[in-house]
Amino acid sequence: MYIEARELSKIYGSGESQVTALNRASLKITQGDFLSIMGPSGSGKSTLLHLLSGLDRPTSGSLIYEGKDICRLHDKELSVFRRQGIGFIFQQFNLLPVLTARENIIMPLLLDRKKPDEIYLEELTELLGIHERLTHLPHELSGGQQQRVAIARALIAKPDVIFADEPTGNLDSQNGSEVMETLKNIHEKMGKTLVIITHDGRIARMAKRQFMIVDGNLSEVTES
Ligand code: ADP
Repeated sequence: MYIEARELSKIYGSGESQVTALNRASLKITQGDFLSIMGPSGSGKSTLLHLLSGLDRPTSGSLIYEGKDICRLHDKELSVFRRQGIGFIFQQFNLLPVLTARENIIMPLLLDRKKPDEIYLEELTELLGIHERLTHLPHELSGGQQQRVAIARALIAKPDVIFADEPTGNLDSQNGSEVMETLKNIHEKMGKTLVIITHDGRIARMAKRQFMIVDGNLSEVTES
Protein backbone atom coordinates (compact mmCIF):
# COMPACT_ATOMS: atom_id res chain seq x y z
CA MET A 1 0.00 0.00 0.00
CA TYR A 2 1.40 3.33 -1.10
CA ILE A 3 -0.24 6.75 -0.83
CA GLU A 4 1.03 9.92 -2.43
CA ALA A 5 -0.55 13.33 -1.96
CA ARG A 6 0.61 15.80 -4.59
CA GLU A 7 0.08 19.50 -3.91
CA LEU A 8 -3.31 19.07 -2.26
CA SER A 9 -5.12 22.37 -1.72
CA LYS A 10 -8.48 23.13 -0.24
CA ILE A 11 -10.06 26.55 -0.60
CA TYR A 12 -13.39 27.31 1.08
CA GLY A 13 -15.69 30.12 -0.02
CA SER A 14 -14.92 32.80 -2.58
CA GLY A 15 -14.09 36.49 -2.82
CA GLU A 16 -13.33 38.24 0.46
CA SER A 17 -14.49 35.32 2.62
CA GLN A 18 -12.16 32.88 0.85
CA VAL A 19 -10.10 30.66 3.18
CA THR A 20 -7.14 28.56 2.06
CA ALA A 21 -7.50 25.72 4.57
CA LEU A 22 -4.70 23.69 2.96
CA ASN A 23 -1.94 25.02 0.73
CA ARG A 24 -0.31 22.56 -1.71
CA ALA A 25 0.39 19.78 0.80
CA SER A 26 2.54 16.92 -0.49
CA LEU A 27 3.53 13.73 1.29
CA LYS A 28 4.19 10.06 0.67
CA ILE A 29 2.97 7.30 2.99
CA THR A 30 4.20 3.72 2.74
CA GLN A 31 2.88 0.48 4.24
CA GLY A 32 3.47 0.32 7.98
CA ASP A 33 4.18 4.03 8.41
CA PHE A 34 3.07 5.80 11.58
CA LEU A 35 2.58 9.56 11.09
CA SER A 36 1.45 12.26 13.47
CA ILE A 37 0.22 15.69 12.44
CA MET A 38 0.28 18.57 14.93
CA GLY A 39 -0.75 22.18 14.55
CA PRO A 40 -2.79 24.92 16.18
CA SER A 41 -6.58 24.94 16.00
CA GLY A 42 -7.78 26.03 12.55
CA SER A 43 -4.44 25.24 10.88
CA GLY A 44 -5.90 22.68 8.46
CA LYS A 45 -5.31 19.34 10.22
CA SER A 46 -8.84 17.97 9.81
CA THR A 47 -9.01 19.28 6.26
CA LEU A 48 -5.84 17.35 5.40
CA LEU A 49 -7.08 14.15 7.07
CA HIS A 50 -10.44 14.36 5.31
CA LEU A 51 -8.71 14.79 1.94
CA LEU A 52 -6.20 11.96 2.55
CA SER A 53 -9.02 9.60 3.51
CA GLY A 54 -11.32 10.52 0.62
CA LEU A 55 -13.99 11.97 2.95
CA ASP A 56 -13.67 15.24 1.01
CA ARG A 57 -12.22 16.32 -2.32
CA PRO A 58 -9.41 18.83 -2.87
CA THR A 59 -9.84 22.08 -4.79
CA SER A 60 -6.66 21.11 -6.64
CA GLY A 61 -3.93 18.49 -6.48
CA SER A 62 -4.10 14.72 -6.63
CA LEU A 63 -4.19 11.81 -4.24
CA ILE A 64 -2.71 8.58 -5.52
CA TYR A 65 -3.48 5.22 -3.88
CA GLU A 66 -1.55 2.36 -5.47
CA GLY A 67 -1.02 4.36 -8.65
CA LYS A 68 -4.66 5.45 -8.98
CA ASP A 69 -5.89 9.03 -8.49
CA ILE A 70 -8.90 8.60 -6.19
CA CYS A 71 -9.98 12.22 -6.74
CA ARG A 72 -11.18 11.06 -10.17
CA LEU A 73 -13.53 8.41 -8.78
CA HIS A 74 -17.27 9.04 -8.88
CA ASP A 75 -18.99 9.55 -5.51
CA LYS A 76 -20.26 5.96 -5.30
CA GLU A 77 -16.88 4.46 -6.25
CA LEU A 78 -15.20 6.74 -3.72
CA SER A 79 -17.48 5.64 -0.87
CA VAL A 80 -16.92 1.95 -1.68
CA PHE A 81 -13.16 2.59 -1.81
CA ARG A 82 -13.34 4.37 1.55
CA ARG A 83 -15.42 1.68 3.26
CA GLN A 84 -13.15 -1.11 2.06
CA GLY A 85 -9.69 0.48 2.03
CA ILE A 86 -9.67 2.99 4.85
CA GLY A 87 -10.52 3.09 8.54
CA PHE A 88 -11.42 6.38 10.18
CA ILE A 89 -11.54 7.18 13.91
CA PHE A 90 -13.23 10.36 15.14
CA GLN A 91 -12.70 12.39 18.30
CA GLN A 92 -16.42 11.98 19.20
CA PHE A 93 -16.47 8.19 18.50
CA ASN A 94 -19.58 8.60 16.22
CA LEU A 95 -21.25 5.38 17.37
CA LEU A 96 -24.95 4.92 16.65
CA PRO A 97 -26.63 5.10 20.10
CA VAL A 98 -29.43 2.59 19.36
CA LEU A 99 -27.08 -0.14 18.15
CA THR A 100 -25.06 -2.50 20.35
CA ALA A 101 -21.27 -2.46 20.26
CA ARG A 102 -21.27 -5.51 17.97
CA GLU A 103 -23.83 -3.94 15.61
CA ASN A 104 -21.82 -0.73 15.46
CA ILE A 105 -18.64 -2.66 14.67
CA ILE A 106 -20.11 -4.66 11.78
CA MET A 107 -22.14 -1.76 10.32
CA PRO A 108 -19.61 -0.97 7.51
CA LEU A 109 -19.85 -4.59 6.30
CA LEU A 110 -23.66 -4.56 6.31
CA LEU A 111 -23.56 -1.48 4.06
CA ASP A 112 -21.66 -3.64 1.53
CA ARG A 113 -23.98 -6.63 2.17
CA LYS A 114 -21.07 -8.62 3.57
CA LYS A 115 -21.07 -11.03 6.49
CA PRO A 116 -18.56 -10.51 9.28
CA ASP A 117 -15.58 -12.86 9.54
CA GLU A 118 -16.48 -14.15 13.03
CA ILE A 119 -12.97 -15.40 13.81
CA TYR A 120 -11.45 -12.03 12.90
CA LEU A 121 -14.17 -10.21 14.88
CA GLU A 122 -13.33 -12.29 17.94
CA GLU A 123 -9.57 -11.73 17.60
CA LEU A 124 -10.09 -8.03 17.06
CA THR A 125 -12.42 -7.48 20.01
CA GLU A 126 -10.13 -9.52 22.27
CA LEU A 127 -7.12 -7.48 21.20
CA LEU A 128 -9.12 -4.32 21.92
CA GLY A 129 -10.38 -5.60 25.30
CA ILE A 130 -14.08 -5.19 24.43
CA HIS A 131 -14.98 -8.83 23.85
CA GLU A 132 -17.17 -8.93 26.98
CA ARG A 133 -18.99 -5.74 26.02
CA LEU A 134 -20.38 -6.59 22.59
CA THR A 135 -24.05 -6.69 23.63
CA HIS A 136 -23.88 -3.31 25.38
CA LEU A 137 -25.22 -0.06 24.02
CA PRO A 138 -22.72 2.83 23.69
CA HIS A 139 -24.11 4.70 26.73
CA GLU A 140 -23.41 1.62 28.87
CA LEU A 141 -19.69 1.86 28.04
CA SER A 142 -16.93 4.17 29.29
CA GLY A 143 -15.48 6.73 26.87
CA GLY A 144 -12.38 4.61 26.39
CA GLN A 145 -14.48 1.51 25.67
CA GLN A 146 -16.61 3.47 23.20
CA GLN A 147 -13.50 4.61 21.38
CA ARG A 148 -12.21 1.03 21.27
CA VAL A 149 -15.53 -0.06 19.73
CA ALA A 150 -15.04 2.71 17.16
CA ILE A 151 -11.51 1.40 16.51
CA ALA A 152 -12.90 -2.10 15.93
CA ARG A 153 -15.43 -0.63 13.49
CA ALA A 154 -12.58 1.15 11.66
CA LEU A 155 -10.73 -2.19 11.36
CA ILE A 156 -13.58 -4.59 10.55
CA ALA A 157 -13.23 -4.32 6.76
CA LYS A 158 -9.47 -5.04 7.12
CA PRO A 159 -8.23 -1.73 5.70
CA ASP A 160 -4.48 -1.14 5.29
CA VAL A 161 -4.58 2.38 6.67
CA ILE A 162 -6.24 4.03 9.66
CA PHE A 163 -6.77 7.77 9.97
CA ALA A 164 -7.50 9.13 13.45
CA ASP A 165 -8.66 12.69 14.14
CA GLU A 166 -7.74 13.56 17.76
CA PRO A 167 -8.74 10.06 18.96
CA THR A 168 -7.96 10.88 22.60
CA GLY A 169 -9.36 14.42 22.52
CA ASN A 170 -12.59 13.41 24.25
CA LEU A 171 -11.01 11.19 26.92
CA ASP A 172 -9.40 11.69 30.32
CA SER A 173 -5.67 11.00 30.51
CA GLN A 174 -6.03 7.38 31.73
CA ASN A 175 -8.48 6.40 28.97
CA GLY A 176 -6.48 8.46 26.46
CA SER A 177 -3.27 6.55 27.28
CA GLU A 178 -5.10 3.22 26.94
CA VAL A 179 -6.51 4.18 23.55
CA MET A 180 -3.05 5.28 22.36
CA GLU A 181 -1.56 1.97 23.57
CA THR A 182 -4.30 0.19 21.62
CA LEU A 183 -3.52 2.16 18.45
CA LYS A 184 0.19 1.46 18.85
CA ASN A 185 -0.59 -2.25 19.19
CA ILE A 186 -2.65 -2.16 16.02
CA HIS A 187 0.22 -0.49 14.20
CA GLU A 188 2.84 -2.89 15.56
CA LYS A 189 0.97 -6.21 15.75
CA MET A 190 -1.36 -5.87 12.77
CA GLY A 191 1.05 -3.84 10.61
CA LYS A 192 -1.54 -1.17 9.89
CA THR A 193 -0.47 2.22 8.59
CA LEU A 194 -1.54 4.90 11.06
CA VAL A 195 -2.02 8.63 10.50
CA ILE A 196 -3.04 10.54 13.61
CA ILE A 197 -3.90 14.17 14.35
CA THR A 198 -3.09 15.35 17.83
CA HIS A 199 -2.61 18.43 19.99
CA ASP A 200 -0.47 16.43 22.39
CA GLY A 201 3.30 16.49 21.86
CA ARG A 202 3.76 13.21 23.75
CA ILE A 203 1.38 11.44 21.39
CA ALA A 204 2.99 13.09 18.35
CA ARG A 205 6.39 11.78 19.41
CA MET A 206 5.09 8.17 19.57
CA ALA A 207 4.89 8.31 15.75
CA LYS A 208 7.82 7.38 13.49
CA ARG A 209 7.26 10.48 11.35
CA GLN A 210 6.05 13.81 12.68
CA PHE A 211 4.45 16.61 10.69
CA MET A 212 3.47 20.18 11.57
CA ILE A 213 0.85 22.24 9.87
CA VAL A 214 0.65 26.03 10.25
CA ASP A 215 -1.81 28.18 8.29
CA GLY A 216 -2.42 25.33 5.85
CA ASN A 217 1.29 24.72 5.19
CA LEU A 218 2.45 21.18 5.92
CA SER A 219 6.03 20.24 6.74
CA GLU A 220 7.77 17.15 8.10
CA VAL A 221 9.62 17.76 11.37
CA THR A 222 10.74 14.22 12.23
CA GLU A 223 13.63 14.27 14.68
CA SER A 224 16.42 11.95 13.63
P1 ADP B 1 -7.96 22.14 12.34
O1 ADP B 1 -8.40 20.73 12.13
O2 ADP B 1 -6.46 22.30 12.31
O3 ADP B 1 -8.55 22.78 13.56
P2 ADP B 1 -9.56 22.69 9.96
O4 ADP B 1 -8.96 21.83 8.92
O5 ADP B 1 -10.83 22.23 10.60
O6 ADP B 1 -8.46 23.02 11.09
O7 ADP B 1 -9.83 24.15 9.36
C1 ADP B 1 -8.85 24.89 8.60
C2 ADP B 1 -9.44 26.23 8.17
O8 ADP B 1 -10.49 26.01 7.22
C3 ADP B 1 -10.06 27.03 9.30
O9 ADP B 1 -9.80 28.40 9.07
C4 ADP B 1 -11.53 26.72 9.19
O10 ADP B 1 -12.30 27.78 9.69
C5 ADP B 1 -11.70 26.57 7.68
N1 ADP B 1 -12.80 25.63 7.34
C6 ADP B 1 -12.87 24.32 7.65
N2 ADP B 1 -13.99 23.75 7.15
C7 ADP B 1 -14.67 24.75 6.51
C8 ADP B 1 -15.90 24.82 5.78
N3 ADP B 1 -16.66 23.73 5.60
N4 ADP B 1 -16.26 26.02 5.27
C9 ADP B 1 -15.47 27.12 5.41
N5 ADP B 1 -14.30 27.12 6.08
C10 ADP B 1 -13.90 25.96 6.63
